Amino acid sequence: MGTQAQMPSGLIAQPPWQALTKTLDRLHPVVMICAASEILWINRAGAACLGHADPAGLCGRSFFEFLHKDYAELADFGLAVFAEEEGAISIKLVHADQHDIDAQMWVSPLEDGLYMVECHDMSEHLRAARALRQREQRLEGIINTVADGIITLDERGVIQTFNPAAEHIFGFSKEEVLGKTLRALMPDSLVDDGRPAKDWVQLLSQMAHLTGKKKGGEEFPMEMSVRELQQGEYLSFTGIVRDISARRAEEERIFYMAHHDALTGLPNRHLLDDRIEEAFKRSRRHHYKMALLFVDLDKFKPINDRFGHAVGDDVLKEVARRMGQVVRATDTVSRVGGDEFMVLLEELTTVAEAEDVAGKIKAAVSAPMALFGHEMAVGASIGIGVYPDHAKDMCELMNFADQAMYRTKNQTRV
Ligand code: GH3
Ligand code: MG
Repeated sequence: MGTQAQMPSGLIAQPPWQALTKTLDRLHPVVMICAASEILWINRAGAACLGHADPAGLCGRSFFEFLHKDYAELADFGLAVFAEEEGAISIKLVHADQHDIDAQMWVSPLEDGLYMVECHDMSEHLRAARALRQREQRLEGIINTVADGIITLDERGVIQTFNPAAEHIFGFSKEEVLGKTLRALMPDSLVDDGRPAKDWVQLLSQMAHLTGKKKGGEEFPMEMSVRELQQGEYLSFTGIVRDISARRAEEERIFYMAHHDALTGLPNRHLLDDRIEEAFKRSRRHHYKMALLFVDLDKFKPINDRFGHAVGDDVLKEVARRMGQVVRATDTVSRVGGDEFMVLLEELTTVAEAEDVAGKIKAAVSAPMALFGHEMAVGASIGIGVYPDHAKDMCELMNFADQAMYRTKNQTRV
């Protein structure tokens, strides 16, 4: 085997590597001394790694017996083929119970055609790396499927990640925004205006209403919560973004419904009250008069009775339209009951101006209507209350107009 040199005296000299076996036996990686492919010596850690209690029992066996069958065809070349590699070689060893051991191997040539084989068991390391990769993939899967846009920024405020929901919200692909700042996604000059990212990110997270900007420049209301993440030296920010256009539109719809009459679309009593209050403030400040006209249709019920409720509804809509046409844009026509309307007139200088508008409303409402092939007409009884001539506050003004209307109505009835 050429492993032991013959001393001239006839004594057998110990090969140099044997002097090292005590030390090598204490090492944790697998260490073997092989001739061609035959194991001459293996350390205790090596035998244990391969599932054998007695290292001496492995001596004389081929190294390739412990190598995975995928490497079987290299057996003909012996270890020389591995020794040519400069760095670590990734291989698989086979344990006595037949399970695979992922290992990194280094083969170094010694004297006399011997090789020192060193293997590090990487199974645990690879398992941990695989588990980490799986965890990362799971996390990435969640980030990729959530409905909210998730954007991460580095400490300079530069976009580092941009999930598919963010791509959908802003219309930009990830590649188009990575490396840019939030300014690419928001019209606000607040963003990236020279102050440190930490400061404006804090400012953004305090703002209730934010506006986002899509790729095409279209702006939309968005909600964004930004959190700071300090990991050791590394500071980053995670922003969770939501397009709230639909919610905002729904809120506006609900607000509109709460302030308007569903049939005619006119401001309802609630909105009228707000407008009267504001009008009072303006009138007092600028010393203008203001008037409240209380309008009740005459003989409206017979239309319902004769033509049906749907036709009655259309008459109410037509009346609303006509009243809107004879007042100024700054005045308010409101439907406050079945066939009752109130009109708020602002910036008047005389009571006569209010009487004039009332006359126009009466004429407009009373003009004949042709609906569903029927000719019909309603009248209007109108009560006028003028501030400050008839009342000093909102309650008095309403009462005055209300009573004036009933007086007119009673006169019409006789
Ligand atoms: P008057 O001349 O004394 O004012 O009597 P009128 O016939 O106009 O009837 P009145 O003002 O006493 O009552 C209003 C009617 O309007 C009562 C109700 O049947 C009808 N009405 C109330 N709300 C609606 C509605 O939304 N649509 C329709 N079509 N009719 C309504
Ligand atoms: Mg009526």
